[in-house]
Amino acid sequence: MATESRIKRTPNCVDSPYAGALSVGDARARIHTAIEPVVGDECVALRDALSRILYEPICSPINVPSHTNSAVDGYAIRGADLSQIGIAEWDIVATVLAGRPYTKTVESGEAVRIMTGAKMPLGADTVIMQEHVELRGDTICIGQAHRPGENVRAAGEDLAVGDTVLRPGKRLTPADLGLLGSLGIAEVRVRRTVRVAFFSTGDELRSIGEIIGDGEIYDSNRYTLYGMLTRSGVELIDMGVVRDRPQEIENAFRQAADCADVVITSGGVSVGEADYVTSTLENLGQIDFWKIAMKPGRPLAFGRLGDAVFFGLPGNPVAVMVTFYQFVQPALMKLMGWVAPDMPPMVKATCRFRIRKKSGRTEFTRGIMSGSADGYVVESAAPQGSGILRSMSAANCFIVLPHEQGDVEPGMEVEVQPFAGLI
Ligand code: AMP
Ligand code: MG
Repeated sequence: MATESRIKRTPNCVDSPYAGALSVGDARARIHTAIEPVVGDECVALRDALSRILYEPICSPINVPSHTNSAVDGYAIRGADLSQIGIAEWDIVATVLAGRPYTKTVESGEAVRIMTGAKMPLGADTVIMQEHVELRGDTICIGQAHRPGENVRAAGEDLAVGDTVLRPGKRLTPADLGLLGSLGIAEVRVRRTVRVAFFSTGDELRSIGEIIGDGEIYDSNRYTLYGMLTRSGVELIDMGVVRDRPQEIENAFRQAADCADVVITSGGVSVGEADYVTSTLENLGQIDFWKIAMKPGRPLAFGRLGDAVFFGLPGNPVAVMVTFYQFVQPALMKLMGWVAPDMPPMVKATCRFRIRKKSGRTEFTRGIMSGSADGYVVESAAPQGSGILRSMSAANCFIVLPHEQGDVEPGMEVEVQPFAGLI
């Protein structure tokens, strides 16, 4: 792990807070190369496979559709009859419904009334839509411009036996469950879930149910982390609040590293923290303290505690969420073995307000985006302080202002990360 970017313990007030900082992209790349998917898989029932990561490829055991069938409600005939001069009327010889096949063969000049999804009778290869025929008692007349083979879905047209249906690394969606169900697959082999232990650090923190004294606040980070981690599909181990006491901190880190694949803490990574948080981490594992060129969320600790991957997030509640989404979530995806397209997705929107922005850092501004006739527009979810959860709750996107970007004027196009895309 690189050490050149350690936070200075004795900052100088003339230093830029971003001097020597890592860019968001570089930090993400370092994290990505430092971790590997967890090892292990299990077989689960189809319903339990929702949102799990597929471990092995799924090949179709059957043809889909399993039999050649009608795509419409109509009349099944022999296609060759259409070009036969002399055939003006077809005799209706039977009616077939889905699930109740016709057992005889359709002869020339015969028509079988057929419903959508019903198996094509032997001899017939064409279905004429019922709207396109003229019914005359027990016979039908068919107009011009029909072609042999129309309105028929061939067996194996969607999937043939042996076709690869789903590849390993896919996170299974409701559509995937339906697809697997359509193939008669009852159980799926998926990767094991990733276990994440997390706790808050700080003498000022109280948990819900406790009385807050002078200078104390309620712990909110454990609840945002609970929400974000639950949505990520990991197994949670909530270890509560840990006080700024060297022995308590050491015990908590050891306990977390023993039972989890990932350990996440919030607070205690900024300059000026009680020194034993960082020194304990340095003694127990390989941890780097990075200064990242971003706002909010400048400090981040990353490394290993035993076999576990460690993330020390900042304490400020919005900074926790921003750093989680930008660094932890992509890392969890890799640990889970989830092979996904670039996440989270970005869209372009017209900014409706002025944003003061210094180049040299990536900024994540809370915004409220909506659709308009001219595409997406985005307003501020103000106020933007890194401890203000209220505007995070009001927002539905981050406006992502890249490293080199300067001030943004109303009407300028910006890149936006919709929260809806953040899993
Ligand atoms: P720190 O990084 O520990 O200096 O914390 C930065 C700011 O975030 C301080 O105002 C802390 O009180 C606040 N903070 C730290 N942890 C939490 C938490 N779990 N919930 C709410 N606020 C927190
Ligand atoms: Mg603290």
